[in-house]
Amino acid sequence: MRGKKRNVVYSTDSAAAKRCPRCGSYPCRCPKPKSVPPEQQTAAIRREKKGRGGKTVTVIYDLQLTPDDRKALGKLLKNKCGTGGAVKEDTIEIQGDQRDKIAEELQKLGYKTKFTGG
Ligand SMILES: [Zn+2]
Repeated sequence: MRGKKRNVVYSTDSAAAKRCPRCGSYPCRCPKPKSVPPEQQTAAIRREKKGRGGKTVTVIYDLQLTPDDRKALGKLLKNKCGTGGAVKEDTIEIQGDQRDKIAEELQKLGYKTKFTGG
């Protein structure tokens, strides 16, 4: 034994509380979420009316992207369409009915696309 100092930082209780609920380990050993390559994804595109004025937005969903990649894609699509939009938790919304333009841009990136809804 070297030294008398015992550094009790972790109690078993707090270690258990910190365990990841998904993999049961601390530190977490879950694989980091990764974006699926465009070639392996089909982007679903639908048109939606929003709010009181019934403004049309084009919604892109069903993409498996990390939040950063989703933000980057949303930014690119907004630029390409020359309009505003918003990146939500699971979707990208672009103002206006931009379905054809968005499908074209997504296909250029390698995504397959499909139109859903109205
Ligand atoms: Zn985990």
